Amino acid sequence: MTLRFSLLAASLSLALPAHAATTALHCGNLFDAASGRLLGPSTVLVQNERVQAVRPGRVEVAGATVIDLGDHTCSPGWIDLHVHVGQQSNPNSFSEGFRLDDVDFALRATRYVRRTIEAGFTTVRDMGGEIAPHLRDAINQGVIPGPRIFAAGKSIATTGGHGDPTNGWNRRLSTLAGPPGPTEGVINGPDQARQAVRQRYKDGSDTIKITATGGVLSYARSPDAPQFTIEEIRAVVETAKDYGFTVAAHAHGDEGARRAIEGGVTTIEHGSFMSERTLRLMKDRGVWYVPTLSAGRFVTEKAEIPGYFPEIIRPKARAVGARMMDTFAKAWRMGVPIAFGTDAGVSPHGDNAREFEFMVEGGMPAAAALQSATLHAATVLGQTDLGQLAPGFRADLVAVAGNPLEDISATSRVVFVMKDGAVVRPLESTP
Ligand SMILES: [Zn+2]
Repeated sequence: MTLRFSLLAASLSLALPAHAATTALHCGNLFDAASGRLLGPSTVLVQNERVQAVRPGRVEVAGATVIDLGDHTCSPGWIDLHVHVGQQSNPNSFSEGFRLDDVDFALRATRYVRRTIEAGFTTVRDMGGEIAPHLRDAINQGVIPGPRIFAAGKSIATTGGHGDPTNGWNRRLSTLAGPPGPTEGVINGPDQARQAVRQRYKDGSDTIKITATGGVLSYARSPDAPQFTIEEIRAVVETAKDYGFTVAAHAHGDEGARRAIEGGVTTIEHGSFMSERTLRLMKDRGVWYVPTLSAGRFVTEKAEIPGYFPEIIRPKARAVGARMMDTFAKAWRMGVPIAFGTDAGVSPHGDNAREFEFMVEGGMPAAAALQSATLHAATVLGQTDLGQLAPGFRADLVAVAGNPLEDISATSRVVFVMKDGAVVRPLESTP
């Protein structure tokens, strides 16, 4: 009884701002996501899980807990719109799918989510995987540390398409398992498309992912063939709206991307082989591009190692990195709206900030790259209290050593992370 009473008292005091403890974070510099500028030395005042105020200079507040971040640069916590927290590519990935259970992957994933948040990514959108909604709940319940997760659950594919979980299986296994259907994320026709979306609602997804074209790492030949009809895409998008879901479309090929845009999706993921015409269509419709340059780099590099990927995947992996980079550079020049996403899970979890460097390499100014992972990523998620350090926003903050606008690789030198007003990575743990 005593314990229960004290817990109740604790939660009551949290609910009353007048009694709430204030934390004052002194930042040597502060990246303002709204303007894309550095504001110089600043104090961020945090009460409970939200930012109360941001003041120029070093402001002392009576009774506040002080966190002195020295001359480090603070930024709103970063958002990665394309991760797979339930997996990490390795030379055994294909056989592990047959040997390991979901619980094995989930236990490994506790490390992946920890690495992600310690790298400054306080929010992620998981773009496919049955484990992610469970990790989201475990993190929200305080069972394990990790970023805020918006999860798609199992992605939706068509038969033989990227995300058909039985691709590459022999006939005996396929016969034993039976053909996958909407529950497993494989649809054919608008009716099954609607059923698959509703199933994801039932399973606790936050968003919907479709694989509108072939993929690089699926056990199949074509990375770019369109794999959904426009009617199927429209059925997904319309049904998703009923449940408040946005739709993300994995698309490498131009025709599949075009259909996805015409069908009303919110984001195009990868977009490797998109034409200028399709990029213009994205710009006109306000469809976001999530480039995932990290994945392109990673697979192109690994394709040179014999045996890392099955032979059917190797030529696709070899080609995609350079194409992604070209398309990204073109999209940026054309003014296509771009939001940050890595495809971590293909590339290693915790290396997410490398994407900033690749974006800058592709011609994007450092400030725009940082905005793509804060302001713009929050817009894609439809979250009005994420992506900025301003009054009322969630107190998600990352501090890095150096000035990321002068040297973007500073984003890989994270020294401090806060999520929802709680310190996740203290300054002391800096190597
Ligand atoms: Zn992906």
